Amino acid sequence: NKDGSKREGTLQMAKGGDHRMIGTPFFIPTDVPCYMCDDIPCVPVCPSGALDEMSVTGEKGELDINQARMGLAVVHKESCIAFWGIQCDACYRACPLMDEAITLEYQKNERTGKHAFLLPIVQSDVCTGCGLCEKACVTEEPAIFVLPVEQATGKAGDHYVKGWDKKDQLRAGDRKLDEIETKTERSEQEASDYLNTEVEY
Ligand code: SF4
Ligand code: SF4
Repeated sequence: NKDGSKREGTLQMAKGGDHRMIGTPFFIPTDVPCYMCDDIPCVPVCPSGALDEMSVTGEKGELDINQARMGLAVVHKESCIAFWGIQCDACYRACPLMDEAITLEYQKNERTGKHAFLLPIVQSDVCTGCGLCEKACVTEEPAIFVLPVEQATGKAGDHYVKGWDKKDQLRAGDRKLDEIETKTERSEQEASDYLNTEVEY
């Protein structure tokens, strides 16, 4: 610390009763978050290789903590006071990737007509999961918290294509947008025509 005192370490090694696989490294953001040190000193000393150096190594072989994906921050809208309309940007200001991992989105308060919301929005492709936002959150229990990436994300499925997104359109193949058939031909039969089919009397 700047005052010369020793800061408590971030990482702990899971032991029995921690509800994690014994021996895996973990941290609790509300106790000590990851401070995203540039030289990532925890990685080279990791005895098991659980902290993967390649995952935080850039194209030129440099260490880059911004590539870490320790988890993903999620905002619980119902308890975040910014979503109530009360001004708060503590998480946004605590984020080492301010305006990249958390952005503030302006929204008009339609109910009052004269107030605004400034909403914290986590950008999932940038957030490292460091937990500094969770530590900084002002609510009684953090309204923003880090979850394992697989628990914090869903998956729409490859069969959904954003027709307005050129890159996504390519995923659908070489066809041009107006060639993609989205209509199903309407049946000429009545619903009753289907009833009792395959039933033998
Ligand atoms: S965990 Fe929070 S503070 Fe850390 S990068 Fe993600 S949004 Fe920013
Ligand atoms: S610090 Fe907490 S309450 Fe404030 S904007 Fe961020 S998530 Fe919402």
